[in-house]
Amino acid sequence: MNKCVFLDRDGVINEDNPNYTFSVDRFKILPGVIDALHLLKMNGYILIVVTNQSGIAQGLYTQKQMEECHAYFQDQSRNAVDHFYFSPYHPSVTESLARKPGTLLFEKAIAKFAIDVSKSWMIGDRGRDIVPAHTLGIRTIQIGDEISENEKADFRVNSLTEATKIILSHA
Ligand SMILES: [Mg+2]
Repeated sequence: MNKCVFLDRDGVINEDNPNYTFSVDRFKILPGVIDALHLLKMNGYILIVVTNQSGIAQGLYTQKQMEECHAYFQDQSRNAVDHFYFSPYHPSVTESLARKPGTLLFEKAIAKFAIDVSKSWMIGDRGRDIVPAHTLGIRTIQIGDEISENEKADFRVNSLTEATKIILSHA
């Protein structure tokens, strides 16, 4: 069984943008992220991004544009991420259990990568990142101070670097 750090994308590895992030020139990797991810990898964690990309269902951008952003990130980070799971759906178009706070993409990852949830973590910046992790018994760290009314993360920090310190201190 493997241990894993699940990561939200926007607001965790790259700057969040209220108008969506879908082109490489607007994909700004947050400070310290690449080093933090490699530190986690060196400590044996699989790194999996789980991201809601409802702009695809809404016709704001294409899956190909999103994939170009992910390829750019992998190039810049020396392939730090083991797998990207994305949900293209939006409730205005199609409801889906694959959209966070649904758990489906996490469940797929847990099966495919033989993940031990009791040794794993989820890092996100919204309540909807925290909810599915709690449902599945994965410890949680929230980055930033967006208030999650019903779901409080186990820890709250300001950066992925700080989140990484917490994870390694609990290993
Ligand atoms: Mg986010």
